Amino acid sequence: MAEETANANSNEERIHKGIAVSPGTAIGAALVVVDDTLDVPERNIAEDEVVAEIQRFHRALAKTREQLKLLQQNLSDSVKEKHAGIFDAHVLMTQDKMVIDEVENSIRTERENAESVFFRVVGKYIDALASMDDKYFNERAADFRDVATRVVRNMSRSKGRRFDRLPGQRIIVAYELTPSDTASLDRDNTLALTTEVGSRTSHSAIMARAMEIPAVVGIKFKELDIKNGDVVIVDGYKGFLIANPAPETLENYAKRESREEAFHDELRKESRLRPETIDRFRVQLAANIELPQDVALAKRYGAGGVGLFRTEYLYVNRRQPPGIEEQFDIYRGIVEDLDGYPLIVRTYDLGGDKLAMSLTGGVAKIDPNPFLGCRAIRLHLDFPELLCTQLKAILKASAYGDVKVMFPMITSMDEVGQLTALVDMTKKELEAEKEPFNKDIEVGIMIETPSAALIADKLAERVDFFSVGTNDLVQYALAVDRNNERVAHLYQPAHPSILKLVQHAVNAAISNGIWVSICGEMAGDPRYIPLLVGMGAHELSMNPSSIGPARRLVRRLNTHDAYVILEQAMQASNGDEVLDLVEGMLYEIAPDIMNMILLGE
Ligand code: PEP
Ligand code: MG
Repeated sequence: MAEETANANSNEERIHKGIAVSPGTAIGAALVVVDDTLDVPERNIAEDEVVAEIQRFHRALAKTREQLKLLQQNLSDSVKEKHAGIFDAHVLMTQDKMVIDEVENSIRTERENAESVFFRVVGKYIDALASMDDKYFNERAADFRDVATRVVRNMSRSKGRRFDRLPGQRIIVAYELTPSDTASLDRDNTLALTTEVGSRTSHSAIMARAMEIPAVVGIKFKELDIKNGDVVIVDGYKGFLIANPAPETLENYAKRESREEAFHDELRKESRLRPETIDRFRVQLAANIELPQDVALAKRYGAGGVGLFRTEYLYVNRRQPPGIEEQFDIYRGIVEDLDGYPLIVRTYDLGGDKLAMSLTGGVAKIDPNPFLGCRAIRLHLDFPELLCTQLKAILKASAYGDVKVMFPMITSMDEVGQLTALVDMTKKELEAEKEPFNKDIEVGIMIETPSAALIADKLAERVDFFSVGTNDLVQYALAVDRNNERVAHLYQPAHPSILKLVQHAVNAAISNGIWVSICGEMAGDPRYIPLLVGMGAHELSMNPSSIGPARRLVRRLNTHDAYVILEQAMQASNGDEVLDLVEGMLYEIAPDIMNMILLGE
């Protein structure tokens, strides 16, 4: 298990800043995971040892598969089924014919032991993936390394690291947590986790959110000066790991923890209150989900439906894309769980920073500028048969509840024409197959490019609803990569240009009589909610845990004041002025939300 770090503690409180990927705060003893370097023995073998060596290699692969399956089962029990899919990809790696053939040949020709040959062969693939300038492939390199480490350990009988029985309640501090590490976590005793490697879309982050464990990534491991047992604080709102916290910081966070609990308890009690303003303007509060099991969380927070189901995660980490029946079961399961509330299924938004080998027959092509490359509907139109598989599954699920379909990354009318033609074609096929589906299924689009926002009045004539994706809208309008921490200070949703684009889209929807939702991160941020309500958005769709504060805030607003603040914000010359205005209003009407959610106090 983890060992103690060599350095002694200095007496100063040290705040290490990373990226918050799973909300919540925790105070507790650190478990510093020092990466135990893998010992790969090297030796020459005699000719008559070759067969035995190859058999030993295969036994290790089989044992690895068994372990992975066991992990998968345990995970299914503890975290629900679909996370377990990650391990299908891992099991597949142990069956990779190219790697196995190369290892066997090298054992025969080079007469070296299986561990060293295997490690060298796999190392080539890992290095190639790790050196790519693409987060998705870097994360796959980590997956490969994880599996390779297990295989080598199984050959050398050395023990791997384990997190399933922690010595007590701990905050795990690691350079990297592999999916098998995260899956084997002792949930009852894991208070929080921090890693250097990872992003919001890395498996560990996804799992941490599903387990509701606060998590921060991007914490530079080598810069830490903490040892096992040191008390640390993890702030999953602000992205902090606080080492050697001063007594008053500890006291503040301890108070914050109990205030936070009380605050969330209160908010949960309000989950059945109508999300409407003082003057009775109803704002639907819906959830953004990434995995089917997030629906339970959405319901717990009182979501009025799913405003955005990001289906990309159904496609990654596997060689074959999910088929119609697999997808149908998932969509049907979700909409049935929603008890009459709507489910908006967004067709897979792959490309950009999320690539799926399953879409390109195992060969993932990387665009030189992925966010401006073959992403989302551009991939759909390149591989229409894959889109039609998804559309068929969505349409079939529409017979079981209020299911809508939504296309991401629209930039032109022409694209809408091509996509709706594919929807019509799929409907005809289902009719011919005599499959029941909702013939009037609503088809909507995301407004997340400046071009779509600017031609929203035309687009509104062709579709049933809009959902404004401000995460991408901000990156494309301000020319700021949403994942690049070096330009993070330029990523400003409050920039007046963004407000103008959003307002333009909302106005176009309202004047054409269609539904408009906002589903980017802005929708769940209390600083933008008054502006979005002032614009007249029908729905705000957000991370489930943001729904409670959003409901309370909506109920403290009245549309006139929201409109007035919006008008003032529209006259501002920069984002800071906009924020000053809204924060001034929030201090007056919602100091509790301001303190708890925005200031973290
Ligand atoms: C958005 O762009 O605002 C959005 C909601 O989609 P995603 O974050 O999945 O790109
Ligand atoms: Mg988007």
